[in-house]
Amino acid sequence: MFRLAQQQFLKATQLMDLDDNVRQRLLFPQRSQVVSFPFRRDDQEQVETVFGYRVQHVLTMGPTKGGIRYHQDVGLGEVSALAMWMTWKCALMQLPFGGAKGGVRIDPTDFSRSELQRLTRRYTSEFIGMLGPDKDIPAPDMGTDEQVMAWIMDTYSQQVGYTVPAVVTGKPVVLGGSLGRREATGRGLVYSVESAAQHIGLDLSTATAVVQGFGNVGSNAARFLAADGVRVVAVSDARGAVYNDGGLDINALLEHVADNRFLEGCGQGEEITNAGLLELGCDILAPCALQNQITIENADRISCKLLAEGANGPTTLEADDILNERGVLVLPDVLGNAGGVTVSYFEWVQDTQNLMWSLEEINGRLHSMMSDAFERTLRRSQQEATDLRTAALIEGIDRVVKAKLMRGLFP
Ligand code: NAD
Repeated sequence: MFRLAQQQFLKATQLMDLDDNVRQRLLFPQRSQVVSFPFRRDDQEQVETVFGYRVQHVLTMGPTKGGIRYHQDVGLGEVSALAMWMTWKCALMQLPFGGAKGGVRIDPTDFSRSELQRLTRRYTSEFIGMLGPDKDIPAPDMGTDEQVMAWIMDTYSQQVGYTVPAVVTGKPVVLGGSLGRREATGRGLVYSVESAAQHIGLDLSTATAVVQGFGNVGSNAARFLAADGVRVVAVSDARGAVYNDGGLDINALLEHVADNRFLEGCGQGEEITNAGLLELGCDILAPCALQNQITIENADRISCKLLAEGANGPTTLEADDILNERGVLVLPDVLGNAGGVTVSYFEWVQDTQNLMWSLEEINGRLHSMMSDAFERTLRRSQQEATDLRTAALIEGIDRVVKAKLMRGLFP
């Protein structure tokens, strides 16, 4: 995955007149820390050791920002790739942050709430020197949520002796979280889909969509697509997929998942596989789960007009080439899922200045920033005669490079 992030970066820099010293500097993260740490299982007898990671890719732009992922396959390469993408995403959105990411190599669905709490508090304390509202600000990613952010905020605050809401974003609203943050990534993705649909002349009121992943990003993307009149015909999660050509009732699915955790048994349509879901004929395909889903193996059989990436890194470089040749418009992750970090930025601004913005203000600002980023990316892709991913990366990289050259080299 880190190689994919590096290859995408190098492909974009081929079209830029880039100082080779800066290119080399940006190819690797500035800081990474790997720890192993113990935590107690609920029976109090069993102590397990797990691996934790935090990577800060670029410290030039301000504090670093990026989610924490709990997943059984997390490793240093994956976290480094995600941190690099965060750098370009923040720069594309013109946010005053560099990119970071963190993770713990566990399957969170195997853990009780109290085990997750102990593990999260110990993870926070292992990285306490790296974190802080002016240093590095985590947020939720796959396998983590508002509750995990609350525990991180509490652990950090206990250590410094006073309450520091701005040390994380994506917190519960009652602890200084922002209105609209929970659904911001899905909402932002749909704002970008609206811009892209207009660009390719796709009428959303008669369009169909398929969404992979029904967690934070996927379920909200499905909800907002349905609100736009799109017929969402299939969704999936880690256990499988459900398909109904007549359209799924997303609110009923949300209720089913709230009660049963997974989609299985929802009774809304035919059960199909995740691989089959990706190849369904539709107008909009939104991968909102894992990386590395659309590859050289299946890119030929992807049959959508618009691929809207809610997940990070769902498409490999080879698959990108195939999709571009086949005329599928790829709305890249760094643009499509940037709504999350954008509203995280709003949350950090509100926390550091004791402001309270209304949901209308949040959504209005998000909408204008997502539309502006789409327009700049589209313009850049036309100027450089390249795809939207490369254009979005060039927009982001260009900003970071200018900042690096202005700051100069110490000493
Ligand atoms: P989440 O943990 O809330 O949900 C993940 C979903 O994917 C779950 O429904 C899970 O069952 C499903 N899933 C797991 N393995 C799967 C598989 N093999 N096939 C199909 N579905 C599978 O995570 P999330 O926060 O929604 O994150 C999803 C993606 O979006 C990740 O790539 C993440 O990096 C990216 N992202 C998240 C945010 C955010 O604000 N949460 C922001 C930007 C990008």
